[in-house]
Amino acid sequence: AKDAVLRRQHSRESSARTYARTFPIVPVRAEGMTVEGADGRRYLDCLSGAGTLALGHNHPVVLEAIRRTLDSGAPLHMLDLATADKDEFTSALFESLPKGFADRARVHFCGPAGTDAVEAALKLMQTATGRRGLLAFTGAYHGMTAGALAVTGNVGVKEPLPSGGEVTRLPYPYDYRCPFGVGGERGAELSAAYVERLLDDPAGGVLPPAAMILEAVQGEGGVVPAPDAWMREMRRITAERGIPLVVDEVQTGAGRTGAMWAVEHSGILPDAMVLSKAIGGSLPLAVVVYREDYDGWQPGAHTGTFRGNTLAMAAGAATLRHIAAEGLAERAALVGARMTARLESLRAALPVIGDVRGRGLMLGVELVDPAAEPDTCGARPADPHLAARVRAACLSRGLIVELGGRHDAVLRLLPPLTITDEQAEAVLDRLADAIEEAAT
Ligand code: PMP
Repeated sequence: AKDAVLRRQHSRESSARTYARTFPIVPVRAEGMTVEGADGRRYLDCLSGAGTLALGHNHPVVLEAIRRTLDSGAPLHMLDLATADKDEFTSALFESLPKGFADRARVHFCGPAGTDAVEAALKLMQTATGRRGLLAFTGAYHGMTAGALAVTGNVGVKEPLPSGGEVTRLPYPYDYRCPFGVGGERGAELSAAYVERLLDDPAGGVLPPAAMILEAVQGEGGVVPAPDAWMREMRRITAERGIPLVVDEVQTGAGRTGAMWAVEHSGILPDAMVLSKAIGGSLPLAVVVYREDYDGWQPGAHTGTFRGNTLAMAAGAATLRHIAAEGLAERAALVGARMTARLESLRAALPVIGDVRGRGLMLGVELVDPAAEPDTCGARPADPHLAARVRAACLSRGLIVELGGRHDAVLRLLPPLTITDEQAEAVLDRLADAIEEAAT
């Protein structure tokens, strides 16, 4: 039965699908971190719907909120009218936002996906500033619609790209493959200094910027955290030049990095935050939250039919409240630090592990060719073939792990924030085993 389903879907669905090809599973049941396939096999899910399932699959709090809403007779689709569920979601969201930002913020409900909220944020800032230029970073991932794709740096196989003529690409402080040939604090300082000089260079080819968009930890780009000092530099540089700073928290938000929002680590207040994935409690929801003085849109300036699905709002409000009430961001920081420590000792033992990095429960393990010469930062060439073998070896051990990064050589661990200590140990046991097998 499982093979028949897979065969039918392969012949009827687009060949652009990736997950379906790398994980030949027909999931029939899921709970917490566990997914069960049609053949009865069980998997620990470290992909979590690409970082969407902060509370894991089918968390009782989320199911309860959805059931309650269904039973209440509330309208499931009301365009952008004010419903009780929207009111509850907005309250939960504003209570969770960084202090100093929430007090003077507005929210705009966007189409259902993260990419919709990115489009809205960029367009809003272009409207508010009357400028068109956009500043974006190497390795960035912001989505697949034209505007979001134009600011995405990590394009891989996603061509053809929109012209991107308005976008100036800046060097993200990727410590392991440092853009200026020096790692650590100095590397991040050089990256910030380059940004500042380029913006001030009248012949730098930079169109007057409507916004700078960045991720505090790049996700698809290979789990690359930006140093807090660098984040503060980006805030200073943009503030001094009147450039709105948009932080894309689609993947880093809702507790994932060990703080409710990743901007809290550096303490900066952005001008806008783009939010999706976990804020819908596993249902599609995306918003842009921005400083109220940028609220320059006329009624009808940015519309869309599916802006605020009632069930997603109910599930999202319950998720945000549960994360706050249970201190799950703090728990993510704690478990993430323990997992990182064990991954670090694995790195010391296995030369195919070039780098271990991340924040909270957003962890990356970069696999390299240990026989090749290191560059001036000490990084060896990425090994995508090995990474693909490790992913397959993980799957055969009942562990779902996805790849990311420039060369698809970074194992990305995005377990739910509810992961137990035993599950964290099991993930690392299976991963260590899989890497050892694939590397020999
Ligand atoms: N921004 C970031 C940081 C993301 O990680 C993603 C999705 N991986 C997106 C935007 C786009 O979200 P969506 O796939 O829902 O359009």
